[in-house]
Amino acid sequence: MEEWQQLLVDGINRASQLPDEWLSTKEGVGQDSVEETFPIRINSYYRSLITDPKGPIGRQVIPEPEEILDFDSPVDPLGEDEDSPVPAIVHRYPDRVLFLVTNQCPIYCRYCTRKRMIGTPEGVVTRKEVDEGIAYLREHTEVRDVVLSGGDPLMLKDDYLEYILSELRSIGHLEILRIGTRVPSSLPQRVTPELCGMLKKYHPLFMNLHFNHPDEITPEASLACNRLADAGIPLGCQTVLMKGVNDETEILKRLFQKLLTIRVKPYYLYQADLTRGANHFRTPVSTGLRIIRELQGFTSGMAIPHFVIDAPGGGGKIPVLPQDYLVSMEDGDVVLRNYNGKVYTYPEVPSTEEVSEGTMDGNDGSRVGSIGASKGKKRTEL
Ligand SMILES: *Cc1c(COP(=O)(O)O)cnc(C)c1O
Ligand code: SF4
Repeated sequence: MEEWQQLLVDGINRASQLPDEWLSTKEGVGQDSVEETFPIRINSYYRSLITDPKGPIGRQVIPEPEEILDFDSPVDPLGEDEDSPVPAIVHRYPDRVLFLVTNQCPIYCRYCTRKRMIGTPEGVVTRKEVDEGIAYLREHTEVRDVVLSGGDPLMLKDDYLEYILSELRSIGHLEILRIGTRVPSSLPQRVTPELCGMLKKYHPLFMNLHFNHPDEITPEASLACNRLADAGIPLGCQTVLMKGVNDETEILKRLFQKLLTIRVKPYYLYQADLTRGANHFRTPVSTGLRIIRELQGFTSGMAIPHFVIDAPGGGGKIPVLPQDYLVSMEDGDVVLRNYNGKVYTYPEVPSTEEVSEGTMDGNDGSRVGSIGASKGKKRTEL
């Protein structure tokens, strides 16, 4: 057995394996019912990072009675099941898809948007479903970007993952492949030289990792990221903003800066989804906006992810920016506010009739505000 497999075997999968004082109780909620609904997995590496059960690492993986006290929130908040032409594929955007190749993860995050399927017997992704997914992608020539996700694709054994990657690479219209993974932050021992040697055969291959707190950037995690980067894989990070875990500017600044030192570029900061069993992690949207405002300009632009809300019901990811940067666009002047509050004016390109006509139409044929239009007096609503 490889080291990473041993760490999973030795890990925790029942609450009763945790110290009693780590578990919160609530009258009328048995621990068994929590773990029967939402499985527990804390591999022994990640377990070793927990110093305080209510700290930022502990909260991400230790079950809470609250998880089963919410009956009203959606189990599939992003409407993924509706955009699923075959079981393993979510095809929402014109040119790219999610390919859910497994429902196993190195840890089972309590805040997970896909709690409905992660680690459950019903959620298992079969070989047949993977092959149907590959067949779907072969037919759909409009797809040029496939995001392998799950679950965590790096939970698959090297040869099965290689089978999937090589099948996808045999499809000419697939330009790029991506893997979304929690492994480097929660089971870095899985990133073996053999795995990296295999992955580098399937370039252009990108990876989006999932770090939420600077304490996850350990020497082991750094080694894993450096190995992946040395295999030529561009690394991004998708972070979920969570109450009591990372909802402070200083924590996220440290996380994003440290990620750059291990060659990982922060990609997305997600507003937590409205997911049954995970809502105790949600923060007000204004918190995320304030954090972005407190980072932008104060540290490397490279360290700043896009803050996005994945719209309930299948709207997809929508970037949100603090409102105050663009003050107005009027009379040919773009008035801007910088990171420390000073106001500047950028003169808009004076547009001629020919340029302004017909160039700004939205997809639906409607007129999108014609910026600095020929009359020079038009106001664009912000
Ligand atoms: C996030 C996501 C993608 C990838 O989106 P990018 O913004 O290109 O990273 C694709 N499909 C679905 C359904 C997604 O949720
Ligand atoms: S690793 Fe990702 S998919 Fe798996 S439980 Fe955590 S958030 Fe969900």
